[in-house]
Amino acid sequence: MNIILLGPPGAGKGTQAKRLEEKHKLIQLSTGDMLRAAVASGSELGKKAKEIMDAGNLVPDDLMIAMIADRIDQPDCANGFILDGFPRTTPQAEALDRMLADKGLKLHSVVEMKVQDEVLVGRITGRYTCAACGAGYHDEFQKPKVEGVCDNCGSTEFKRRSDDNAETVRSRLAAYHAQTAPILPYYEGKGILKAVDGMAGIDEVAEQIEDALGAA
Ligand code: AMP
Repeated sequence: MNIILLGPPGAGKGTQAKRLEEKHKLIQLSTGDMLRAAVASGSELGKKAKEIMDAGNLVPDDLMIAMIADRIDQPDCANGFILDGFPRTTPQAEALDRMLADKGLKLHSVVEMKVQDEVLVGRITGRYTCAACGAGYHDEFQKPKVEGVCDNCGSTEFKRRSDDNAETVRSRLAAYHAQTAPILPYYEGKGILKAVDGMAGIDEVAEQIEDALGAA
């Protein structure tokens, strides 16, 4: 089963992708995570991407398409994958279709996670993760049980994304509305688009996604 989670930054795509990974034995392919790894490694791609990401803009399509094409060729994707953060433009969506067709694969569903912009800004600017295990927290909505200590692994080191500040979030939302939301009708036309209420709680959203996939 190959799925796309589509929604604005902060909609909960990463959180839901992790759940789907476990439940359906799929692989989460997050282009944002891949780019952050490239930035951390200091590679040429990372150097190009860093400034663009910190400004809240989109990395050029040719780079992103090449990155995903390489990744879905890896053997661990054979059982299916969840695309989180890709495609983000019409050329990316079209390139993905060509890649899948060449491999004899198809998309099972595109799940749109709908959340209002005002809610997204609060969600994103308050979020942080454990530096050791990656568990996600939020200043208001999901504090660790013991302050400063990760519930999951006990680490006391946490980190925040450099693009999770109020100003960059505004640009990221503008990029979503201008460049990514226009691909929704493309998938609607193919009859594989399902919408879920991303404003609901994490468990409720997960249930809605399961229903959407079951009904696909
Ligand atoms: P994310 O982790 O999905 O919020 O992505 C963080 C940043 O990485 C975005 O704001 C973009 O600058 C860049 N990025 C991630 N995925 C893509 C993509 N498919 N196309 C273009 N830029 C991307």
